Amino acid sequence: MMIDSVYSNKDIFLRELVSNASDALDKRRIECLKDTELAENTNPEIKIEINPDAKTLSVSDNGIGMSRDEIIKYLGTIAKSGTKEFLKVAKDSDTQQELIGQFGVGFYSVFMAAEKVEVITRRLGSAETYKFTSDGDGSFTVEDTEQRGECGTTVTLFMKQPEEGAKNYLDEWTIRDIISKYSDFISWPIYYQDKIINSRKAIWQRPDSEITEEEYKEFYQHLTHDFTEPLAHIKINAEGTTNFKGLLFIPSKAPFDFFINRDSGGVSLYINRVFIMNDCKELIPEYMKFIRGVIDSEDLPLNISREILQDEPIIRIIKRSTQRKIFTELRKMLENDREKYITFWQEFGRVFKEGIAIDPENVKTILSLAIFRTTDNDGWTTLDEYKSRMKPDQKGIYCLAGKDNVTALRSSPKLEPFTSRGYEVLLMTDPFDEWLLAQGDFVLPKDEADFLNIARDDVTPFSDDEKKANDDKLKEIDAEYEPLRKLALEILPDKLEGLRPSLTLTGTPACLRDGAGGISLQMENLMRSAGRVVPPQKRVLEVSANHPAVRKLIAISENDKEKAGKILRVLYDEALLLEGVMPDNPAEFVKRVDEIMTVALEDG
Ligand code: ADP
Repeated sequence: MMIDSVYSNKDIFLRELVSNASDALDKRRIECLKDTELAENTNPEIKIEINPDAKTLSVSDNGIGMSRDEIIKYLGTIAKSGTKEFLKVAKDSDTQQELIGQFGVGFYSVFMAAEKVEVITRRLGSAETYKFTSDGDGSFTVEDTEQRGECGTTVTLFMKQPEEGAKNYLDEWTIRDIISKYSDFISWPIYYQDKIINSRKAIWQRPDSEITEEEYKEFYQHLTHDFTEPLAHIKINAEGTTNFKGLLFIPSKAPFDFFINRDSGGVSLYINRVFIMNDCKELIPEYMKFIRGVIDSEDLPLNISREILQDEPIIRIIKRSTQRKIFTELRKMLENDREKYITFWQEFGRVFKEGIAIDPENVKTILSLAIFRTTDNDGWTTLDEYKSRMKPDQKGIYCLAGKDNVTALRSSPKLEPFTSRGYEVLLMTDPFDEWLLAQGDFVLPKDEADFLNIARDDVTPFSDDEKKANDDKLKEIDAEYEPLRKLALEILPDKLEGLRPSLTLTGTPACLRDGAGGISLQMENLMRSAGRVVPPQKRVLEVSANHPAVRKLIAISENDKEKAGKILRVLYDEALLLEGVMPDNPAEFVKRVDEIMTVALEDG
């Protein structure tokens, strides 16, 4: 039942087998290039055979084959019940399909149509041949068997009796139909009896107008094993001094391990339609790693090795022009389909943005493609759009960064003075944004983006006159705060370098300010969680001059130091929480709040 629900379309088992056979042929070719001792493949092929009497369907290849260990590792693990259990947990079929792709259980799909599978395989460079059998119930066997004439693999399916009205996979035309639908572009010949039944036309070589959306989708899935639809495809046809073609995709969802293991994915390199390598890092900048697809060059030698790729001028030209094309397509999407672009950005924006730090040449372009959350509306804004709304007297782009939660950021007390004066503030939630605000000055073109971090002490929304009036007023009341300040520095000597009143904080009693030269609270946290040693950072506790609790606190700060101290600690921890940062000792915090509650309830 689980098998049927996962694969709503049974035909794909054949696609999976052919795709594995094709990969095996690719791998053999590459291994032979590296090791000339190995037998070259003089007639690479994939063969499909049907035996209606025995009710078997087989897919053979003379590719790389598998060793005993590989069989167990690649096929054994899949047959184990663990996978089934795992898939059961993921209830809806979209998630299941995704998991199947990501965990490489493609082979398992054979059990949709077969009641038993037998794999005979001989590894390139080895004399032993093995037979793997499984009926998909969780167990499997591997045994030695009679030597296969050539290295490669034959997968034989013992087919189930087809249900009433269902497709019969033991029929030539059913098979041809499926191959032409899903596997036509496979570059190796697929034989049925003595005929080649795939056109072998690489999809990226065909004119865009001839290719249907469905074909793009099929190819994407063949390439990525991602069962969701790609968000967009990008066709490249470069002619001139350097000739190459490309078909790239922007996935609609990041693979589940994308942010941990960026090595999954990337762009494959082909030379004259011959597969050379997966994930060719030299073809695409690191911050565009989410792009999947194929680049096919006409100008590179077939025996190119990974080592020399880096210094290959043609590769550099391809990379540049591919990058430019991706920028252009993204711009088009940003301008013509904002909704789609937001989907893209939510999945990959935080990776893409890193280009600002690592690709100085394209900083302007990347900035112009970046979108941000804002206090102006619920949606997203580009920097240009923000700038068009800026007030004439505004000194730069006001920003506030915080931990991955825009809702929390929206209620930050630091916004009050800005938004109440009609200034728009960008709300930033990616770890990279912290870097942007801290280091941005060094890399950003001044006229492009002058990010002003409103968490910083020296960034205020006031005009010079207002600032002066404000400062005068603060000076006037400052003495009142001296006892509280003394107490604060006494009880939190490592955390605070000062305490001062604020006329702008209204709803909230206190907040923390970063010193002008110091590391922001978010950055500090980020660095610590990345295992970096950060020198202790002292901050300024700003307390609202208008808040009744603060007024009362001042009143007791000299006579009841113990109580005032407790309350101050609570204020400090509250200010941390408002920044999305845990108090150093949450249990202590809760204990103090409990005490305060108890007293409040007694009084009531
Ligand atoms: P995926 O193809 O996504 O990795 P599969 O379940 O289809 O997942 O296959 C698992 C692994 O088994 C493959 O990655 C490959 O190493 C091995 N394999 C499957 N079919 C063949 C084959 N015909 N020849 C050689 N190796 C194969």
